[in-house]
Amino acid sequence: MITHYGYIDGSGEYYIVVDSDRCDGCGKCVNACPQKALQLQTEFVDLEDKTLAVVSEDHRKKIKYTCSACKPETNNTPCVLACENKAIKCIWDQR
Ligand code: SF4
Ligand code: SF4
Repeated sequence: MITHYGYIDGSGEYYIVVDSDRCDGCGKCVNACPQKALQLQTEFVDLEDKTLAVVSEDHRKKIKYTCSACKPETNNTPCVLACENKAIKCIWDQR
């Protein structure tokens, strides 16, 4: 399951994307995030409970501001670099 956290608006699209098939819940991205925008959460995926990285509720509606200091347009952010499984990425397209 691919989950997009973020939104599209008049100035572009902004998403942190987590691939549950690749995420093993290691928490490295959570520890790497300077804004504490990520957390581990247990989700029911593919008929089983799985611990996954998610964007916390508080940050979902302001992800553009939360993540902007990390230069997410490079997809080279602390969360992405921390993930050895390539389970998290940024889609960051400013118009
Ligand atoms: S570092 Fe990658 S594998 Fe580990 S919790 Fe984060 S997204 Fe999942
Ligand atoms: S881009 Fe930066 S602020 Fe946004 S989730 Fe990744 S590490 Fe955290």
